[in-house]
Amino acid sequence: MSSEYALTGGRIFLGKDQGLQSDLALHIKGDKIVSVCPPAALPADIACVDVQHRAIFPGLIDVHLHSEDWHAPLLLANGITTVRDVGCALHPILDRRARWNQDDALAPRMVCCGPLLDGNPAGHIKMLHLVRTPEEGRAEVDSLVAAGVDQIKLYAWLDWLSFQAILDQAQQHHKFTLAHMMNLVDATSAINAGLNEIEHCSGCAEAMHPQRALAGEAWRKLFAEIDYDRMHRLIDALLEKDVWMAVTRIIWFKASNEGDPRHWDSPNLRYAPRPTQDWWKSRKSEQYTREFRLDWSRAWGGMQIFIAHLIERGVKIIAGSDAPFIHVLPGFGLHEELQLLVDAGMTPTEAIMAATASASQALQVDKQVGSIAPDKLADLVIVDGDPTQDIRYMQRIWRVVRGGSILDPAPLLDQAAAYAATAQLGSERRVNDIY
Ligand SMILES: [Zn+2]
Repeated sequence: MSSEYALTGGRIFLGKDQGLQSDLALHIKGDKIVSVCPPAALPADIACVDVQHRAIFPGLIDVHLHSEDWHAPLLLANGITTVRDVGCALHPILDRRARWNQDDALAPRMVCCGPLLDGNPAGHIKMLHLVRTPEEGRAEVDSLVAAGVDQIKLYAWLDWLSFQAILDQAQQHHKFTLAHMMNLVDATSAINAGLNEIEHCSGCAEAMHPQRALAGEAWRKLFAEIDYDRMHRLIDALLEKDVWMAVTRIIWFKASNEGDPRHWDSPNLRYAPRPTQDWWKSRKSEQYTREFRLDWSRAWGGMQIFIAHLIERGVKIIAGSDAPFIHVLPGFGLHEELQLLVDAGMTPTEAIMAATASASQALQVDKQVGSIAPDKLADLVIVDGDPTQDIRYMQRIWRVVRGGSILDPAPLLDQAAAYAATAQLGSERRVNDIY
C-alpha cells in the first residue's frame, strides 16, 4: 500500500450528532488523515481503496486493561487501536509502551499508569507500589512522574490521608488520576478531593452507606441497598466535578458468574493461553453456590440501577474491559462491554462514543485519536453493517487501520491462536504477575 491513498465508497462516522455520512472519502497520507471530503475533491491520481458500503469508525479505545504482549494481535483484530494500561510493574510497562507506540508497531497505541499505588502490604505484588503514609504517597507520585507514566492510579487499600496526598501531589504535576476504591475511601470524598476518574463504580455503594463501609461491610451488600437520595447527590457531584466513569460492567458480570461452566464453552477460548486459563480455573469457581449467586445477583441489580441513572443523567461513561481478568479476553471483552452498555440503556452511538471520542478525552489523547478528522492519526475500524443501529455489527470487522496501515484481522487472530496453543508459564511468564 502506498503511503498516500483514499478510502472511498463507504460511510464515515463523524461523531454523535452527524453519525454515519455517505458520499465522503477519507484521504490518508502517511499515518495521518488529510481530509474527509467529497470524492471529487481527492487528488486526481490518488490510489483508492473501495470499502464497498462498509462503515468506517475511529479505532476503538479500551480504557482499562492490564496488558501483556500476547494481547496485541487480539486487540488490533478487534478494532482496538489505543489502550490504557491501568496497572503493571513499572519497567515492563514503560518498555511495552515504547514498543507499542512505535509508528509501525503491530499493536495498539498505549497510555499507561505504571504500578497501582496501594496501602495493603499483603497485596504487595509486582503491579503495586506500597504506600503506608502521605509522605510515601507523595514520593511515589514524584518518582512515577519522573519515570514518565501518563496518569496515576490509586488502589483499594490506601488510607484516606495517603489517598488525599497522592491526589494533591498528582495535581501539582498536572497528572490525571483514577481510582479503584474500597471501604476506606468513598466516591464522594474522592471526587471532592479532585479525583478525575472512577473505575468499576468502586466507592459508589460506599458513598451511599459511608458508615457501614467504614465498618467493613462488603460493597456487594451495600450496592444491593440503593439509597436514592444519596445516589442522586453522588451523581450531582459526578456531573459538577466532570468525573469520568469507567464502569467496566463486563468485569462485574463475569465476576458474578465466574463459576458458571458455560464460560468453558466459548469458542474464543482458543485465544486464551493455557497459563491464563489455568489462572482463571484456579480461582474460586467451587464457590459458585446458591449463596454466592444470590449475593451477586442483588449486587448486580443494584449496580444496574445505578448505571441506568448515570446514563440517564449524562454522566461521562467510558468503555473498559479489565482484560485479562476472569474470562475477559483482550479485544473481545471490549465488545462485550459495549453490548452491556447498550443493555443498560445507552444508544449504540453513545456506546461507540464511550469507546472512541470520550475515551480519548479521558486518556488525554483526543488531539491524536478518537475521531475521524484532518490531522488525526489514521486509526480506524471498518465494519460490515451499521453498528449505530445494532452494536453487534461493531464486531463484524473487515479491516483495521493503524497509523495508515491497513490490517486484515484474520492473520492477527491466527497469530493469537498459535501463541495460545503453545504458551507455557515457564517460557512466557506473565510479565505483570498480576493476580
Ligand atoms: Zn483493573
